Amino acid sequence: MAMAIRLLPPQLANQIAAGEVVERPASVVKELVENCIDAGATELHIDIEKGGARRIRIRDNGSGIPKDELELALSRHATSKIASLDDLEAIHSLGFRGEALASISSVSRLCLSSKPAQQAQAWQAWCEGRDMQVTLEPTSHPDGTTVDVQDLFFNTPARRKFLRTEKTEFGHIDEVVRRIALACPAVEIKLSHNQQLLRHYPKAIAESQILSRLQQIAGKRFADEAIFLELAADAESGQTLGIRGWIAPPDACRHQTDVQYMYVNGRMMKDKLLNHAVRQAYGDSLASDRQATYILYITLPANDVDVNVHPAKHEVRFQQARQVHDFVLLQLREALGAHVHAQQEQGYT
Ligand code: ADP
Ligand code: MG
Repeated sequence: MAMAIRLLPPQLANQIAAGEVVERPASVVKELVENCIDAGATELHIDIEKGGARRIRIRDNGSGIPKDELELALSRHATSKIASLDDLEAIHSLGFRGEALASISSVSRLCLSSKPAQQAQAWQAWCEGRDMQVTLEPTSHPDGTTVDVQDLFFNTPARRKFLRTEKTEFGHIDEVVRRIALACPAVEIKLSHNQQLLRHYPKAIAESQILSRLQQIAGKRFADEAIFLELAADAESGQTLGIRGWIAPPDACRHQTDVQYMYVNGRMMKDKLLNHAVRQAYGDSLASDRQATYILYITLPANDVDVNVHPAKHEVRFQQARQVHDFVLLQLREALGAHVHAQQEQGYT
């Protein structure tokens, strides 16, 4: 027989929300790192233990969270990033749902430590139990924020059961960090697993530094041979779309699909329509055992794209989908075509 209707305790409500955003350790890393980027951080230290199941600790040097906002930061539907429907319709940050910290803290032992530059003392906060009571304590911490997530899914056995091996889970984390490293070249990132520094992406500002980050992530061949393209939006001529990035010429395309990075307004995403545009740009030139290989950054006015489609924000909806598709297709065709042309002139083909 059905029970009477009742309001769920906060922890259970948060755990249900966590079901959508916190699939595995890598999703925790994604949410936490996005918060660091939104906070203007230029340095990230990511420490993982046991594939993230034991610990995910991320320290940044961003704006920090004032003591009197720590409790709110851990509550659901609490965000500093939007305040109105107008804001929601033109998102300029990676986060806006105000759910990540509440969700993650309901399925782990989470401790949030922070110190804004203008605050003398650092404070830490954590919450526990079905009412998610927050405890606050003074601590020591440099300017910025650390989120320390231990024992992920310790209280949700159904989720814990789905954790794969340490190596597999770390592999997913590594990929999330690569995506962020490509999105934010100016941010220095260190990633450690079980106290061993495995990745170091130094700050990349100059072109040569950006190319070496590209090489670290996409391999030497891609960095050497990919075609660079750039067309900035130009408000005066009504050209609202912009594109920048690299696309491999057909013969340098990879056999795997591992270098297919598409960003829209700084957010990595998988979009069927844009994938189609890229594939179409290659046309027949791509051998059947090769995959489109690219790193592309598309920009458009924030209110022409809806990012509030999926809780984990892997998808977007374009207001003018066809126009975006055709723009990407045309730009890539031109870039690839110009390349083939140049090769022909040099007598390569
Ligand atoms: P959202 O990112 O959608 O706002 P979160 O639950 O991820 O929601 O974070 C809640 C709030 O906590 C953010 O809006 C932000 O104000 C603050 N916050 C979280 N992480 C950081 C961080 N690393 N640095 C500064 N502020 C942070
Ligand atoms: Mg967030």
